[in-house]
Amino acid sequence: MFEILGQCAHVQIPEVSEETLRFYRSGTILWVVQQIWSLFLPWLFLMTGWSAKLGSFAEKKGKCWYGSIVLYLLSFLALYQLFSLPLWMYSGYFRPRSYGLSLQSLSQWFVHYGKGVFLLAIMALAFVWIFYALLKKSPKRWWFYGSLAGIAIGFFMMIVQPIWIDPLFNDFGPMKDKELEQQILTLASQAGIDQGRIYEVNKSQETKMLNAYVVGFGHTKRIVLWDTLIQEMSTPQILFVVGHEMGHYVLHHMWWSFCYFSFLTLLIFYMIYRCSPWLLRRFQSRFGFFHLSSIASLPLFLFLFTFLSLATDPLSLFISRVMERQADRFGLDMTHDNQAAGEAFVILQQKNLANPRPDKFTIFWRSSHPSLQERVDFTNSYCPYNLKSSPK
Ligand SMILES: [Zn+2]
Repeated sequence: MFEILGQCAHVQIPEVSEETLRFYRSGTILWVVQQIWSLFLPWLFLMTGWSAKLGSFAEKKGKCWYGSIVLYLLSFLALYQLFSLPLWMYSGYFRPRSYGLSLQSLSQWFVHYGKGVFLLAIMALAFVWIFYALLKKSPKRWWFYGSLAGIAIGFFMMIVQPIWIDPLFNDFGPMKDKELEQQILTLASQAGIDQGRIYEVNKSQETKMLNAYVVGFGHTKRIVLWDTLIQEMSTPQILFVVGHEMGHYVLHHMWWSFCYFSFLTLLIFYMIYRCSPWLLRRFQSRFGFFHLSSIASLPLFLFLFTFLSLATDPLSLFISRVMERQADRFGLDMTHDNQAAGEAFVILQQKNLANPRPDKFTIFWRSSHPSLQERVDFTNSYCPYNLKSSPK
């Protein structure tokens, strides 16, 4: 399948299957539908007055201010999930199963989904009241204090994700293949990463897809490999993938992402602060509530947040692609194995049914990684270490 040409290896991406193209095209349509739905649903809650009705129901039945917030949040969340369930079932269960990517049974899918909704409810009950307290106390500066609270919550979630949240869904542990682990640890020590930072997660029971990632912050920061990736790739290919993840780790990409997230949070909160009073004045009679500090305004914030996130996604994804390129380069600098790197990309392309040459719109608005064609081209052409060892 693979061919070596020239100094940096020459890996070619095999012809893309009809199934991959179908998966790609239907994925684009699904993405558009999902975006429209995530804007439409909160807008529907506003324009029909449902949110205002839920708000007054919660105020009447809730025994205190926090009690009414809890009641509103739980009933809103339940309705929101109910309306969205068909779309989530299609995208999370039926679609990946029909392409042979998912091995989950419907009951397993529901268990994961239920845990996700439960977590969402806990987080909403724990954090949403803070923003409404700020809206009440400080009508002019709530956006600033609110974004500081949002950044603090984001920081907290980043730390606890690998230790509290991810283990609810899958089993994480040390690597099972001890020989491979030793090779990875040798590479890690060369990169200056301490021991005990490499984890394997059991995904092979639920998916055929491959993945590896860096997660956590400070003491909880770690590199995680899906067991499917370990099963499908050869040792040199895995070492390149781990080298790439070590790039994210050593180049502090989590930290840079957090700085960007903080800036974006401030920007989005400020924009919401500027836009929301205007929307409220314009549609007051339809919305049925008169103050932003009323809990019934939640779908308005949700709508604006979704809209502004979508508008800033191209910048966020551009930054992500820059970091991914840096991590690819780091992986090659660590392993000097361009052939294995290119082969790893081909395996990722085939196992994940990824289109190696997506269109410009997809790259601009949806791609957190450079296209696989671009990544393979890079591994074929980047090998300064070879040039250094054999000068003209
Ligand atoms: Zn990466």
